[in-house]
Amino acid sequence: MKPPALQSDPLNLPELTAQHIEADVLRLDLLHPVLSGNKWFKLHRHLELAGHSRLLTFGGAWSNHLVATAFAAQQAGLPSIGIIRGERSSTLSATLQEAAGYGMQLEFITREQYAQKTQYLKDRRYPGAYIIPEGGGGLPGIIGSETILSKIDARSYTHILCAVGTGTTFLGLVRASHPGTLVIGVPVLKGLETISAIDRTGILTPEQAGRARLLPGYHFGGYARHPGELLDFINELYTRSAIPTDIVYTGKLFYAVTDSLRRHFFPAHSRLLIIHSGGLQGNRSLAPGRLLF
Ligand SMILES: *Cc1c(COP(=O)(O)O)cnc(C)c1O
Repeated sequence: MKPPALQSDPLNLPELTAQHIEADVLRLDLLHPVLSGNKWFKLHRHLELAGHSRLLTFGGAWSNHLVATAFAAQQAGLPSIGIIRGERSSTLSATLQEAAGYGMQLEFITREQYAQKTQYLKDRRYPGAYIIPEGGGGLPGIIGSETILSKIDARSYTHILCAVGTGTTFLGLVRASHPGTLVIGVPVLKGLETISAIDRTGILTPEQAGRARLLPGYHFGGYARHPGELLDFINELYTRSAIPTDIVYTGKLFYAVTDSLRRHFFPAHSRLLIIHSGGLQGNRSLAPGRLLF
């Protein structure tokens, strides 16, 4: 898979200009309709390592990672298996239908089995399968994410901001950015508040860890929770900037950015790079018409 060309768009909001702050949005969401956003970056090293093996990975009914893996496997001519958390429902989610359409074999396991999925896999044994951790994480996912910054002048930014699920993308951005750039992650799940909770194996050098920050408090109740206030914000942001965001990740990221501006968190003359990590397909779980795009 060839690295894609990247586009960044200036974010034009009066509250930025008023504080003498510039912000660019790195539009990974525009890369590809399916293999969208950060998923291409997290997967490409895994695919190189997989060789000709079939791919096996995990996810929930609306997992961006699952559908991206199904598509990437099909492109690479590899069989893929998706282990899905929870019972099969009578109608599959649009995401799972799409993954199945790319040839992914879906296997549903209970939430209890899912919590023990490594043991479950050992028992069931999928010989020869290359296992991609949930969310495309692990070291290959981190190294793959480093290439997000390889095609742009990352040095010119004082702050790089991204949404944090597993933190794989965040760790890659920290490792690939320059001393002097603060990398700020916005956790989209509850209870994720420290760098050590993400970097469990100590992959960051002390210098890198020193300029890696989490901005907790913007999870809106937890993973995939999306109260009306968030949906209204997503619509408002779209009206003001023409940037579409999603309800699980980037909506919360942009909310954190605008709230931080309200709090004068960024010094004057900061230059922000906001990573739009894609994920718009997940918005299909909403009632039609709830969002303006
Ligand atoms: C999967 C995903 C993330 C999470 O990335 P991590 O590397 O797991 O932190 C962020 N944004 C979007 C849109 C995603 O689909």
